[in-house]
Amino acid sequence: METLFIGGAWRAAASGETRTINCPANGSEVAVVSEAGEADARDAVAAAREAFDHGPWPSTSTPERAALVRRVADRLEANKEEVARLEALDTGKRLVEAMIDMDDVISVFRHFADIATSGAGRVVDTGNAHVSSRIVHEPVGVCSLITPWNFPLLQTSWKVAPALVTGNTFVLKPSELTPSTSVWLMKALAEEGLPDGVANLITGAGADVGPALTTDPRVDLVSFTGGLVTGKTIMRAGADTVKRVALELGGKNPNVIFADADLPAAIDNALTAIFLDSGQVCSAGARLVVEESIHDQVVDELVRRAEGIRLGGPFDPDAETGPLISEQHREKVERYVAEALEDGAVLRTGGRRPEGEEYENGYYYLPTILDDCTADMRAVHDESFGPVLTVETFSGSDADEAEDAAVKIANDTIYGLAGAVWTENSGRAERVAARLRHGTIWINDYHPYVAGAEWGGYKQSGNGRELGSAGLEEYLETKHVWHNTRPAKAGWFADRDAAGEEEGTQ
Ligand code: NAD
Repeated sequence: METLFIGGAWRAAASGETRTINCPANGSEVAVVSEAGEADARDAVAAAREAFDHGPWPSTSTPERAALVRRVADRLEANKEEVARLEALDTGKRLVEAMIDMDDVISVFRHFADIATSGAGRVVDTGNAHVSSRIVHEPVGVCSLITPWNFPLLQTSWKVAPALVTGNTFVLKPSELTPSTSVWLMKALAEEGLPDGVANLITGAGADVGPALTTDPRVDLVSFTGGLVTGKTIMRAGADTVKRVALELGGKNPNVIFADADLPAAIDNALTAIFLDSGQVCSAGARLVVEESIHDQVVDELVRRAEGIRLGGPFDPDAETGPLISEQHREKVERYVAEALEDGAVLRTGGRRPEGEEYENGYYYLPTILDDCTADMRAVHDESFGPVLTVETFSGSDADEAEDAAVKIANDTIYGLAGAVWTENSGRAERVAARLRHGTIWINDYHPYVAGAEWGGYKQSGNGRELGSAGLEEYLETKHVWHNTRPAKAGWFADRDAAGEEEGTQ
């Protein structure tokens, strides 16, 4: 299978190697893709560089670039189920969820097409009538776009759409586990008329192709979504050539419930917060931070509801959530739970693989709740990226003390991606939201996002922002152009002849 798209042509890996993609729900083979190596990655970078330096795309008008991006959205809308199926098979997630992801992708492409011209720049008043001074924005150049496996096309759209409307060229490297929708996207872009070399695709393992994509001097920007450890490696890799590096990393996201919350809504959303997509969501509400007086009521109900969650594959109409992405990832989650129990957490439900023939060939893991967790436990600090909820409790002798205690726990993490606060007291909701050091705060809700609002992390959850208008600016350089319409001598240095005499003094 030729799945490398370089300079407008499909080709196999130089080594001839391929990788088989299996569905995590049942192990069935769903695709065979080219397994790129370093030489392929360098070729892709060279093609993107050539297209940026000598191709028409960077100087194509912004409305024209936006129109192409809009056509890709229309094409996806027309082929939504077909593409959602590819995504569901690669990830093991339910088709209905993949369909929702496709709606989100469409809205992201349209959002960036809509705001494409907003990066036009501005005029600065110099105080001098003969000088015009303007700020113009230009594409950054060649971008390496590296994406994870949990929302493959969605995470890709957050990068590809703004990169394209602003006139950049790029090499896309999707997760080696979920390449199929990226292949679809490249075909769509080419068929919509994107010039050769603007969009290039490398399917391959991060360790093999990553270094070329993050160190090559011909790359100007790296935008990465993935885990913290990989993010640090990429930041170091980009340092030697001072690349722009944008990182969207993990999270350990607190979901804070006060006793005065709408409890039926808070409890129901606490389930979605953590068990949606089996916890494989960067913003998953994996840390329940609950006021002591309602702890038993909330946790008992969560346990009861978690035990009723139905697991199943992409096309199982009864399934409510799916498998983990791989056996390796399931083993990581199992180790995480074992460590939590060693550290003193109390297992309230789950903590094992489900039984039953239908689960045998998939990487399923039961929704798990660990109670009595404290700040010193590894489970409270590390991201499991699985269906595991840790429960911490707070209290205070008065309302202010309770707020302080909740905020202290919720901020006690190296991460800062997202968090939620549940309370019917709007003053408290705003106070707590203001004090939480996380990039997205939901008040009385969990998980929704819109393409028009910025997304990104505080602290070690990353830097830079995607979506919104900041997500466009990531892909723009800023240039100041100073134009003196009445040139005159600066007169700073005296004009002396060889003998040291100043002009005009003899
Ligand atoms: P990962 O870090 O293992 O891999 C992400 C991507 O990086 C993959 O394409 C991988 O092949 C590539 N990669 C690996 N090593 C590389 C290297 N040395 N150089 C360049 N690229 C390399 O992450 P994952 O397991 O695919 O995804 C899960 C992680 O992603 C979680 O930590 C999750 O929280 C995070 N995530 C964050 C967001 C966000 O918006 N902040 C969104 C989704 C996922």
